[in-house]
Amino acid sequence: MREWEKNIRKVEPYVPGEQPKDKDIIKLNTNENPYPPAPHVKEVLESIRTEDFRKYPDPAADMLISAISENYGVDKNMIFTGVGSDDVLSMIFLTFFNSDRPVLFPDITYSFYSVWADVYRIKYETPLLDENFNIRAEDYYKPNGGVVIANPNAPTGIYRNLDFIKDILEHNRDVIVVVDEAYIDFAGQSAVSLLKDYDNLIVVQTFSKSKSLAGMRIGMAFANSELIKALNDVKYSVNSYTMNMPSILLGTAAAESMDYYNITTEKIIETRKRSAGRLKALGFECLESGSNFIFARHGRVKGTDIYDFLRKNKVFVRHFNAPRIDDFLRISIGTDAEMDRLFELLEGYLANL
Ligand SMILES: *Cc1c(COP(=O)(O)O)cnc(C)c1O
Repeated sequence: MREWEKNIRKVEPYVPGEQPKDKDIIKLNTNENPYPPAPHVKEVLESIRTEDFRKYPDPAADMLISAISENYGVDKNMIFTGVGSDDVLSMIFLTFFNSDRPVLFPDITYSFYSVWADVYRIKYETPLLDENFNIRAEDYYKPNGGVVIANPNAPTGIYRNLDFIKDILEHNRDVIVVVDEAYIDFAGQSAVSLLKDYDNLIVVQTFSKSKSLAGMRIGMAFANSELIKALNDVKYSVNSYTMNMPSILLGTAAAESMDYYNITTEKIIETRKRSAGRLKALGFECLESGSNFIFARHGRVKGTDIYDFLRKNKVFVRHFNAPRIDDFLRISIGTDAEMDRLFELLEGYLANL
C-alpha cells in the first residue's frame, strides 16, 4: 500500500435519494415540496443581475438573517445560516461535539448524523426507538457528549410535543441539545419557543421542505448568541462565503412569503390525511405523520416488492435497507394527482397478488 493510501480519511458516505433525469417520473422519494416556491421568489429571481456575480456574496448573509429574524420572531444574533441544514448540522457537529463522551441520537433517525460523527471522529451511541418507533426520553438521561433529536423524526415522521423536548433538555442541562426541525411546519409547535429557557438548545430548520427551495440550499440554526458566535467562528475558519448570492436573495424572498407557504403547507397536510386513509384501506400500517411524508408498511407484502413494482411504473418512493424498517416505504406527499396515480397503481398491484 502506498503511503498516501494509508492516510486517506475513509468514510462511508451518506446516500441521498435518487434524482432521476426522466421528467415523467413521479418523485415521492426525497420529501421535496410538490408546489412551487412563493411568487415573490420568482420576481426576485427575475431581478437578479448576472453582472453582480463578479463580486463575492455577503459572508454574513445579513439580508437573509434579517428577513428570518423578522418573520420568525428571533433576534438576529441568535440565527446562523448555511448551505442547507445539512451544512448547518455539519458545522454544529464540528463545533460542539468534542467530548470524550458519546453523542446520542436514535438508531432510526436521519442517517446523516452517524456519517458526520464518523467523518469528524466523534464518538456516538444510538439508543433504540421503542417498539412503536418512539424515542424513549429515559435513554437520554445518561452522561453524554451531546444529543441530537429530529422532531418530527425521520424517516418515521413521528412528532413529539414540547413536553417531551423539555424532558430531554431538563436531563441535559450541561451539553448541547440539537433539535432538527426539518419538518416542523407540517407538525406542531417549534422548540424555538424554548430558547429563552435553555441556553444549550440549538433548533435547526430548513427552506428545503415547507419552503419549496431544496434546490437553493438554505438552512438555519436558532440558538443563544454565544452558540451562534461559536458556530460562526468555525464557519469562518472553513469557508467564509458558504451561501451564494442568489440563495441569499431568494431565501430572503421566501422568508417574506409566509402567507403563501401557510397555504401550501395546509394543502400538503390535507393530502397527507387523505393519503393515510387510502393507504390504510389498502392494508398498510402508517405511522402517525407530522411531516410531508408517510412511513408505511403493508401487512402482507414485502417493502422491496412494492418498491420495485412502483419503480417499474415510474413512481419513486424511498426504501431503507436497514434492520427493523426494511418493510417500510417512505412516501413523500405529492400533489393530489400524483398521490391518486400512486393509489391507482397500488390498488391494481395488490388486487392481482
Ligand atoms: C431534509 C432533511 C435535512 C436536510 O435538509 P437540507 O436540504 O440540507 O436543508 C436535515 N434533516 C432532516 C431530518 C431532513 O429530513
